[in-house]
Amino acid sequence: MIVYNNGVYCRLSQAAVSVQDRGYQFGDGAYEVIHYTDHHGVDEDWHLDRLDYSLTQLQIPWPMSANALRQCIRHVRLLNKLSTVNIYISITRGVPATRDFAFPKTPCAPVLTMIPYRHKPVAERLRTKGMTIITAPDQRWGRCDIKAIALLAPSLAKQAATEAGADDVWMVDTQGCITEGSSCNAFIVTPTGEILTRPPSHAILKGITRTRLIALARDAGLKVTERPFAVSELKEAAEAFITRTTGFIIPVTWVDKYSIGTGHPGPVTHNLLSLYETFVQEQKHGRFADTTRFVV
Ligand code: PMP
Repeated sequence: MIVYNNGVYCRLSQAAVSVQDRGYQFGDGAYEVIHYTDHHGVDEDWHLDRLDYSLTQLQIPWPMSANALRQCIRHVRLLNKLSTVNIYISITRGVPATRDFAFPKTPCAPVLTMIPYRHKPVAERLRTKGMTIITAPDQRWGRCDIKAIALLAPSLAKQAATEAGADDVWMVDTQGCITEGSSCNAFIVTPTGEILTRPPSHAILKGITRTRLIALARDAGLKVTERPFAVSELKEAAEAFITRTTGFIIPVTWVDKYSIGTGHPGPVTHNLLSLYETFVQEQKHGRFADTTRFVV
């Protein structure tokens, strides 16, 4: 596999970063994952807008223009002959002269890496039976709106889910409300058919898939309300699902060993997935024109 490593395309096994990189020492960097399907980047512009937001919040300069970055992503796809792929892009603050918690006085050059990850379609079991999740306290920092590379808290939470035999974890704030999944946004459908998800704030990552899906659902006349919902509401929900770039929409059917609704993926989730899949095809063929910018 060929990756992009700060100016050079090289084999994955030969790609290395400095042990002094602030990404390595402090988790000081931002990232994005963009899904390409038949060489079309699903909402690529929005991902680059969100990357811009993360970098701005962290005061890390762009290592190159957004258009040059698009070209590098394209080269990575072509060099690997991968038309349907997930591209992981990370930008760290770089390698300072000395180790200090404050940013280097003489700014260092940001370090950009890109790794293509083969796209695995959502497993048959998850599509047809839904995911099992546990709930656990949200132990992350106060700026989850930034797509930062520091991912220790969600890793620990996901490990706890794995050890409990579950597919994922939904994290819970101090008020008893769901924030989001370890690497996905969380939605429920109430018994009256209303779609609920937490509004964007510093408590969650404003997902690209989430944002697109909400717009599509509202256009289709469905009622979507952005408000926090409690674990008790999740347990009484008719349906639940997650959204993320690498899986679109995946039903959730069990939480903490309780079944959600019928315990099977429900009709609203199915409908939303088909709306989203149609959108991906339309956007790929240039029939879905949307020039709005992604605002976090
Ligand atoms: N929340 C978190 C914490 C995530 O890591 C992700 C995946 N990037 C998401 C939500 C989903 O965001 P997106 O739809 O942009 O992939």
